Amino acid sequence: MIKLFDVHIPESVKGPLLKTLFSGYIGQGPIVDEFEREFSNKFGFKHVVSLNSGTSAIRLALALIDVGPRDEVISTPYTMVATNTAILEQFAKPIFVDIQYETANLDPADIERHITEKTKAIICVHWGGYPCDMDETRKIAAEHDLPVIEDAAHALGAMYRGKPVGTISEFTAFSFQAIKHLTTGDGGMLSITNPDKYKEAIRRRWFGIDRAARKPSVLGHDPTYDIKEAGYKYHMNDIAAIIGLEQLKYFDLLFKRRAEIANRYREELEDVQGITLLENKPDRTHANWMFGIHVDRRTKFAEMMRSKDIEVSVHNWRNDKYTVFGDLRKDLPNLERLNNDLICIPLHHKLSDPDVDYIIETIKKFKDGEDKL
Ligand SMILES: *Cc1c(COP(=O)(O)O)cnc(C)c1O
Repeated sequence: MIKLFDVHIPESVKGPLLKTLFSGYIGQGPIVDEFEREFSNKFGFKHVVSLNSGTSAIRLALALIDVGPRDEVISTPYTMVATNTAILEQFAKPIFVDIQYETANLDPADIERHITEKTKAIICVHWGGYPCDMDETRKIAAEHDLPVIEDAAHALGAMYRGKPVGTISEFTAFSFQAIKHLTTGDGGMLSITNPDKYKEAIRRRWFGIDRAARKPSVLGHDPTYDIKEAGYKYHMNDIAAIIGLEQLKYFDLLFKRRAEIANRYREELEDVQGITLLENKPDRTHANWMFGIHVDRRTKFAEMMRSKDIEVSVHNWRNDKYTVFGDLRKDLPNLERLNNDLICIPLHHKLSDPDVDYIIETIKKFKDGEDKL
């Protein structure tokens, strides 16, 4: 079976990982600091805070803008549920707006009608790694004085109109979960533009304590240090960070390979009847984490692909179908349509050229065969 995703763990991590494991210090230490430095240098971010997951990054961002009980957060209904369960974790309510059928991203044109007195923030997701319409989204946010959180779990390395994703909005959350572009097993990073919010994030990721600000004391922990705000246990440890540091060395190579494969799909599948590709404008760089296509007869397509040993997956279902988020919405037509016809085909660094050829041929044959798409 050709897998939909694959995990990247380089052999070269063994040495540094073992060294860290047996170093006598595996908590949050100097390697975490080094990973943060290297990561922000590489991608051009101002301030980053490493965390134990991407979900923690989203929740911490919400906490940093004081989202609390009964507040509302404008969000996308088409995403991995973590985007929206993070809102519930802060006891707030996700308010779903429609998406764009062409991108699977939040539709800025549908935001305004959902803004109320209770709205505290806007969250968008760069679905599959394709940047959202940030100028339009941020314009509406600015008019209503709302911060924007970008869930960039799919979008490490993406660019929007000359700017790296992670430098555009107040907060950008990245994930280092197993199958993301860069994995530390599990982990996350929050990129923050405001220096005060950054300092607060450093404290609140670890029980409200800034480790570096504590004074040395003969009694051990600084007896004068005060904790003034509630924090979480969200920090990254040196084990995850050493893996992350090693992964950074491979990022460009893997990113380029994903783009090559995705570009071949785009060229070869563009005119295949029954299939519609997602938008890919030249003003942004796609991170190509997933390759979703609209398919007229999706179930038939999935059966056929799996019968040819190619894994395909819908991967995300509209989040409003889950009871935990309230009632199914009837006023989101693009979501309705996309939820019924989008499916992902394999995209990862381990696909060989013959694998890619085989996937393309199989899709093309299907449309020519008796089971027309
Ligand atoms: C993976 C993912 C997350 C959550 O990241 P974790 O590191 O698994 O917590 C959030 N949002 C989206 C869109 C994701 O794909």
